[in-house]
Amino acid sequence: AAKRAGRNAYAIFDPTMTMSVLEEAQQRADLEHALEHEEFRVLYQPVVDMNTSQLTAVEALVRWQHPRDGLLGPYHFIAGAEANGLIVPLGRWVLRQACAQLASWRAATPAAAHLKVNVNLSARQFQYAGLVDDVAAALADAGLDPASLTLEITESMLMADIEAAKETLHALRRLGVRLAIDDFGTGYSSLSYLKQLPVDVIKIDKTFVDEVHIDEDDVALVDAVAGLGQALKMQTVAEGIETDAQWETLRRIGIDHGQGYLFGRPAQPADVMELLLSELEPLPNREHV
Ligand code: C2E
Ligand code: MG
Ligand code: MG
Ligand code: MG
Repeated sequence: AAKRAGRNAYAIFDPTMTMSVLEEAQQRADLEHALEHEEFRVLYQPVVDMNTSQLTAVEALVRWQHPRDGLLGPYHFIAGAEANGLIVPLGRWVLRQACAQLASWRAATPAAAHLKVNVNLSARQFQYAGLVDDVAAALADAGLDPASLTLEITESMLMADIEAAKETLHALRRLGVRLAIDDFGTGYSSLSYLKQLPVDVIKIDKTFVDEVHIDEDDVALVDAVAGLGQALKMQTVAEGIETDAQWETLRRIGIDHGQGYLFGRPAQPADVMELLLSELEPLPNREHV
């Protein structure tokens, strides 16, 4: 509890650190309070077509506007929320927020007619028995067609319990939502299972993008994933593109979509609206929030 007195109590939160029962209870109470008092925010990062730079989707990324510690990124609270279970209501809130936001952009401009939204799921949310109902309700309440929503799941979530994961993915697929494997290449998905999963999109992790313009090994790896995507009829997205050189290399390899600071940082809804209204070349980097 002494730690709480200090500033940046969350900035120093480390999921591997052992917390006392009291600290855990306090953190849970803080997150519950934050949910109730609407301290969470959702920012939206552009996903663009690699060839035309057109905005095709936005990824919803949660932030905590902490009254004392300022704007906190997910690394400061997602692991804690995952551990104490609050990720389920928090994730549901993000999902509902993202669906409502897309509906609101669509109502505001025809430029958003084909825009999609991506929402990250956590492991616990993915295992939660009410997930499919939550997703269906979020879509229905926003009046969105299910194909406008892409749910992002990591490899480790899929491989933890493959049979259960398959069942959940198929139930989500029956709803009509799209499914993406996030941070692809950092986990251990087996190709034989990947083939059986109803996945639409592979998101290639930033670690393969960082040096792709200078490292032939990364080119070979990304090229292999592009081939995999083609063979399995999955779209490919490269994450964390920051430079023209990376973009050019990935485009040449044949990656379908790109995401990264080069095209835009996680942004406020009003900034996305601006983007929609202008049809842009590679987006200028801007500071947001
Ligand atoms: P992610 O899903 O892989 O999201 C991409 C992360 O990379 C985001 O960090 C984004 O801001 C960052 N990023 C994008 N482009 C670039 C770039 O060009 N350079 C660099 N250096 N970084 C880039 P963020 O927003 O801090 O999110 C981190 C992770 O937290 C996400 O990784 C995701 O796993 C998790 N997360 C975020 N929002 C949610 C949520 O609503 N629910 C759940 N369960 N997890 C979330
Ligand atoms: Mg993601
Ligand atoms: Mg990712
Ligand atoms: Mg990533």
